[in-house]
Amino acid sequence: MVGSVAVGGGTPVVVQSMTNTDTADAVATAVQVAALARAGSELVRITVNSREAAAAVPEIRNRLLAMGLNVPLVGDFHFNGHKLLTEVPACAEALDKLRINPGNVGKGARRDEQFAQLIEIASRYRKPVRIGVNWGSLDQHLLARVMDENGRRSQPTNATGIMREAMVASALESAAKAEELGLPGDMIVLSCKVSGVQDLIAIYRELAVRCDYPLHLGLTEAGMGSKGIVASTAAMAVLLQEGIGDTIRVSLTPEPGGERTREVVVAQEILQTMGLRAFVPMVAACPGCGRTTSTVFQELAQDVQAYVRESMPAWKLARVGVENMTLAVMGCVVNGPGESKHASIGISLPGTGEEPVAPVYVDGERVTTLRGDAITVEFKQIIEDYVARKYPPRN
Ligand code: SF4
Repeated sequence: MVGSVAVGGGTPVVVQSMTNTDTADAVATAVQVAALARAGSELVRITVNSREAAAAVPEIRNRLLAMGLNVPLVGDFHFNGHKLLTEVPACAEALDKLRINPGNVGKGARRDEQFAQLIEIASRYRKPVRIGVNWGSLDQHLLARVMDENGRRSQPTNATGIMREAMVASALESAAKAEELGLPGDMIVLSCKVSGVQDLIAIYRELAVRCDYPLHLGLTEAGMGSKGIVASTAAMAVLLQEGIGDTIRVSLTPEPGGERTREVVVAQEILQTMGLRAFVPMVAACPGCGRTTSTVFQELAQDVQAYVRESMPAWKLARVGVENMTLAVMGCVVNGPGESKHASIGISLPGTGEEPVAPVYVDGERVTTLRGDAITVEFKQIIEDYVARKYPPRN
């Protein structure tokens, strides 16, 4: 358990995200955590990189509680985590989980000592720990050792194989060390993040074979826009399909002025389109073609998609199961009626040259035909009526 959220042990895959505000700015960070949580992030990670940031964590927690949000907070520690958690115990108390990067815990003899300090604090405050290896900060001592061991083999592997083995070894050896130090195994989550799709798949397959710890999946430095989304989806979908992964994060670089919450939406869409979880009604829409040359159907599809996402928090509070509703917005008569019949509610707009009417299907039956300028408003009302009629009130 992380706060009130179960991770691993066959429970549904959990969506998480991370802030990009200065944690020392408690107001800005609480506002962004709230936005991420409201978008559907079930855990939110915040960096804790300075004394000011550590001191702000209890205030962030209190501000979230004042907003009615009890989303679990994960503290991300590098280099000085042992010091910050010792000096600001209220920070440890306010967090629900600690993320420790074994490559950044400390150098030389201090590494083991500082790692032990972190584990002791986690045990004392009963906080689960994610041992989060990242290839950008891989433990160089361990990498050198794996290279030496590889060199002594009769059939040594290549540089890629060495890197992958060093990542897995760093996670597993750190977890074993944490257990030796007294942290129960069921309070440990592992991650090994890389930016290459094939590397991520190979590393997590290996981790899944060699341990039973819950695994946090994510492609690190996935990038911007469609590249980041496609790379993250390509890597994680393969693993999720194999039953590997208990929690995911999509590490998208926001476009200037872009919403941080995009990474939450993408993570949900990966899980929902794979049929692993349902968060919000899905809108099927055709790509359009030469048979529909106006933008009306594109605008309706976009409008309906935004409408259901905006409406979902209220629907979820009031009704049970709305997230399973499916919608179809189609461009013409070729596939429109057929696709519409497969959805809970579907609409088929008139293609170029077709009669200017839009038949609407509900649970496979044609129920009405919309026409004129008010199609969008009337279609949304049909959705509202369906939600009220179909999904029982939440007690
Ligand atoms: S449903 Fe009609 S408009 Fe949409 S892609 Fe198919 S043929 Fe084109």
